[in-house]
Amino acid sequence: MPQPKYRKIAVIGYRSVGKSSLTIQFVEGQFVDSYDPTIENSKYFYFKHLSVLVFSLFNRFLALSLQDEYSIFHQSHSMDIHGYVLVYAVTSMKSFEVVQVLHDKLLDMVGKIQVPTVLVGNKKDLHMERVIKPEEGKKLAHSWGAAFMESSAKENETAVEVFKRIILEMERADGNVPSE
Ligand code: GDP
Repeated sequence: MPQPKYRKIAVIGYRSVGKSSLTIQFVEGQFVDSYDPTIENSKYFYFKHLSVLVFSLFNRFLALSLQDEYSIFHQSHSMDIHGYVLVYAVTSMKSFEVVQVLHDKLLDMVGKIQVPTVLVGNKKDLHMERVIKPEEGKKLAHSWGAAFMESSAKENETAVEVFKRIILEMERADGNVPSE
């Protein structure tokens, strides 16, 4: 029986891009259309066991949904985060700009050229409101050396994919699986 691995994943991005929704969809398997705004002010801490069959490992997650996009930079040192899910909404140019600033700050903070990162373009189900093309997200992620995905927090499958993908990136950083 392999030892469980304990990893922390930070989910960061501009407000309302779907950080909480993606995390809730992953952990609870449901889309919460609206929730109590008082809860919005608190941080969500979720734990979930997931077996990543390819590696036969059991990973335990702590996913943080941070409401203030900059608060991560004050807390990260003490939190020992292993992977970052950077989220923008394909419906928001502002969120796409913010995610680039966040990434720059992240690199400054961790002092490494690359950290395990997945760039996620969420709300892909809102076809009529889309302003960011998939290619634009892909290009940005490529320039960072990060993985890229689009998702919808309304679909369980894509939310789960996001978290599977960040595990893969962390495993790669640990040298447990070869890079692409
Ligand atoms: P956060 O501030 O980044 O945590 O964003 P929330 O998870 O609170 O989501 C903000 C709003 O967008 C909420 O009304 C969600 O229901 C909605 N939302 C989040 N993700 C999606 C998605 O993938 N598709 C659609 N249609 N709405 C979403």
